[in-house]
Amino acid sequence: QAKVQGRRKVHFFDADLDEQVRTHHNRRTEVREALLAGQLVPFYQPKVDMRHGRVVGMEALLRWRHPARGLLGPGEFLPAVEHTDLIADIGEWVLRQALEQLAEWCAAGRMWGVSVNIAARHFQRADFVQQLRAILEEYPAVPPRLLELEILESSALHDVNHVRCIMQECQAMGIRFALDDFGTGYSSMAYLKRLPADVLKVDQSFVRNMLVDRDDLHLVSAVVGLARAFNRSVIAEGVETAAHGALLIRLGCDLAQGYGIARPMPAEDVLDWAAGFVKAPAWEDASLLGPL
Ligand code: C2E
Ligand code: MG
Ligand code: MG
Ligand code: MG
Repeated sequence: QAKVQGRRKVHFFDADLDEQVRTHHNRRTEVREALLAGQLVPFYQPKVDMRHGRVVGMEALLRWRHPARGLLGPGEFLPAVEHTDLIADIGEWVLRQALEQLAEWCAAGRMWGVSVNIAARHFQRADFVQQLRAILEEYPAVPPRLLELEILESSALHDVNHVRCIMQECQAMGIRFALDDFGTGYSSMAYLKRLPADVLKVDQSFVRNMLVDRDDLHLVSAVVGLARAFNRSVIAEGVETAAHGALLIRLGCDLAQGYGIARPMPAEDVLDWAAGFVKAPAWEDASLLGPL
């Protein structure tokens, strides 16, 4: 009896797996077609200096304008492709889009940076550096120092030395690197020492809870301290309220990104948004913080 049940379970499990594989396969085909059909589009989320009230950059965040399902976030379609070569094609396309956009912003007198998220699979391809150099050459009006690549520390999991080499080659071209979701990986500390990242991006889960959870507050504060000790910049993501901003400024983290400043938006809205951006008085209002 038990054995039959066991078998049946195995059978169910297989069917599930099969179904999963098939859905992933279909999804991949759909995403490839979406890319070719021009349905993928980068949105941009501002990065600001809260203390000086300045826009310092825009992060490209991919969206899929799905003809039937509406606007989809990357969580709904990137997982199906991030371990395939398609992620590199998408990444290459996003890089071009972002640089073209950056060239437009530069021409409009806006010299902020642009950041692009790069998947491990893309980043570790043998031709990555060559590809990046070729793309940069297509946009001679864009200073490479305005391009920042955001990578996850887990990108370096398999071969830190290799990743360090790629980073150094890119940095020699002028490009900057940020370690995204910093603090959520298994060995942030070890990587910090071995990877020449210019910027640490404090993960939004810590930022979101730091006003109510002392452990998260200590984590944010520690990452800010680490950045300072290692002479790297630091930016907080997930800044949803003015109180988050006020606390971050007090902790020494002036750079921020989050819904409380601006949500990711279509490229055509960015210049208008930036023209209206002013620093929130509440960012410097310590009374918002209460007893910590
Ligand atoms: P990420 O790079 O860590 O980006 C931050 C994510 O948090 C974005 O979600 C952003 O919309 C969201 N976010 C920003 N501020 C707030 C806030 O105040 N509150 C909350 N709750 N969320 C906030 P999104 O756009 O869904 O992107 C998710 C992830 O998908 C990104 O995380 C990035 O890892 C990946 N991704 C996005 N675009 C690309 C891309 O072009 N290529 C690759 N390889 N990955 C991408
Ligand atoms: Mg990012
Ligand atoms: Mg992040
Ligand atoms: Mg993330």
